[in-house]
Amino acid sequence: MKAPKFNYIKANSLQQTLELLDELGEEGRIIAGGQSLMPTLNMRLSQPNTLIDINGLQDLEGITLEGEIVKIGALTRHIDVAQSSIISEHLSLISKAMPHVAHVAVRNRGTIGGSIALADPAAEMPACALALGAIMVVESLKGRREIAAEDFFKGLYETERKPNEL
Ligand SMILES: Cc1cc2nc3c(=O)[nH]c(=O)nc-3n(C[C@H](O)[C@H](O)[C@H](O)COP(=O)(O)OP(=O)(O)OC[C@H]3O[C@@H](n4cnc5c(N)ncnc54)[C@H](O)[C@@H]3O)c2cc1C
Repeated sequence: MKAPKFNYIKANSLQQTLELLDELGEEGRIIAGGQSLMPTLNMRLSQPNTLIDINGLQDLEGITLEGEIVKIGALTRHIDVAQSSIISEHLSLISKAMPHVAHVAVRNRGTIGGSIALADPAAEMPACALALGAIMVVESLKGRREIAAEDFFKGLYETERKPNEL
């Protein structure tokens, strides 16, 4: 199968991304690692009008420890989470779960934000987020919202995130 035609925009800033999400609504779709999105496009299970590529937004990558809080950027790759000493020291459940996420090629590209946003009930990261009491930070042009994992995941592939929120 081949993907349907779509427009492609490589975002060059967070502000531009939020503006595009606001303008495009349901017709716009973020592409992060593309490991789940591309297969669904190729199988025509999803036909967004425009893909917004956030891979150039380095501010969304990285893992930091701030007091007792570990912050993981949405664009942090599975491989970087797996190799992080902050994660192994403070969130060992995630370190133990990560080797079970797909295989190396997928872990090299896939992101924690993509996994959380997708909310596949069989996926490891949403389960870890729930078990660890994670808080998701979503942002739109209207500002930021913090959503507890138990409120974020609403069902099969369904989350509290609105289409205009990153
Ligand atoms: C062969 C294969 C095996 C796999 N096995 C497993 C497994 O065993 N366990 C597991 O947990 N996962 C598995 N996965 C999924 C993999 O972990 C994906 O990388 C992950 O689910 C999605 O991450 P991504 O960055 O590739 O997201 P993408 O595919 O780019 O996006 C997925 C969805 O999330 C949205 N999205 C992405 N980032 C954001 C963001 N920052 N804000 C808002 N929306 C966003 C996209 O619009 C899209 O709807 C597998 C994938 C493949 C191809």
